[in-house]
Amino acid sequence: MNSFATSPGTRDILPPDAARWRAFQEAFAEVASRYGCSYMIPPMFEDLGVFLRLGEATDVVTKEMYDFEDKGGRRVALRPEQTASVCRAFVQHRPTTPWKVWYAGPNFRYEKPQQGRYRQFDQVGVEVLGVTDPHADVEVIALAWDFYRALGLRQVHLALNTLGNADERARWTEALAKYFRDHEEQLTVDSRATLAKNPLRVLDSKRPDDAPVIQGAPRIEDYLGVESAQHFAVVRQSLTELGIPFTVEARLVRGLDYYCHTTFEFVSTSLSAAHTAIGGGGRYDGLVEQLGGPATPGVGFALGLDRTLLACDAESVFPSPRETVRVFVVDTTGGGEALRVAAELRAADISTDRAFEQRSMKAQMKAADRSGAEIALIIGSDELASDSIVMRLMSSGEQTTVKRANLIEIVQRTLAVTDVK
Ligand code: AMP
Repeated sequence: MNSFATSPGTRDILPPDAARWRAFQEAFAEVASRYGCSYMIPPMFEDLGVFLRLGEATDVVTKEMYDFEDKGGRRVALRPEQTASVCRAFVQHRPTTPWKVWYAGPNFRYEKPQQGRYRQFDQVGVEVLGVTDPHADVEVIALAWDFYRALGLRQVHLALNTLGNADERARWTEALAKYFRDHEEQLTVDSRATLAKNPLRVLDSKRPDDAPVIQGAPRIEDYLGVESAQHFAVVRQSLTELGIPFTVEARLVRGLDYYCHTTFEFVSTSLSAAHTAIGGGGRYDGLVEQLGGPATPGVGFALGLDRTLLACDAESVFPSPRETVRVFVVDTTGGGEALRVAAELRAADISTDRAFEQRSMKAQMKAADRSGAEIALIIGSDELASDSIVMRLMSSGEQTTVKRANLIEIVQRTLAVTDVK
């Protein structure tokens, strides 16, 4: 018989890692609600057109989309990210603004799988729609910053840039295209290919051979109008006021086409070069309109869960929560008493596990040990006959016999004491 394994770029998230994922999302939920953001759940697939708006010249759209025709002949795609879906939802439902939402869940990109880069990867993110105020940019950056702190990460660097408004960005891109074409013979083959599709993204190249040409490329600051320069100045001042350190990086353009004004990226300095970007975002004032809605500004970010957890590993922070039960029931009389005792304990909100299949006392005690429970409740024929149960404290091995009728109360009391320790 054939057996199957996960597809390339996908993984099973097994215990105890899965508990860590859940704790990650819960930590994010807590910080996001502290900032007044509400949870939303966009669908995992949408009309392909929603994602085409991300920009015809981006890898995410041209090479990496999981798109297919469904049985009804619709062209759909698994979401490669969620900002476009949030904007599509905004256009469809027209909530009052500012609309501040957060989301969490998997995205799909047909990338070359490697450490820190998967075909199914999780993100948590925030989008704020309907606000042009640069303080909104600062809020979303501060939210991400607080979240990294909440995880315990310290080696996170914030890189910041502005792309100006649509016109300024277009004029700068034109100047970049001309400059890179004039110096094309000094660019690597890969960057020449990028130049043909999206001159802005040549700036993204991390290849050392491209560095000298990129160094001399036109800079956005020379193309910014007064308003855009002012917007960026407020962002920088406010971040400084909040004590959030950053560096302005003129080369930071980010992958997707819809960004304008503020763009930012969080880089983990504890990770190796291939996957140091653990999150990023920016302003995307044109996206809602492109999706058929009224002109609506937006700003947001998404953080890669998989990669952020790699950063947590590198800094030895945010370990998997312990997933253990507090009580384990051992029953050598057939299991009927274990059934009743476990039910009573669970009804009293005490996490409980038990052994099955009438295994030997030794095997059941071994299972109790493995479970990590603080208390084992042991039922043999003597106990069953005398309406009692042996309570064993797993840490000390101390055993007492307790009356069946008082069991729940005594277990509760004992656990309350171990709780404080
Ligand atoms: P993006 O949506 O491309 O701006 O990505 C935002 C964040 O998602 C990145 O900083 C990464 O942390 C994460 N990310 C993007 N693509 C992948 C991937 N294929 N595998 C794992 N994480 C990813």
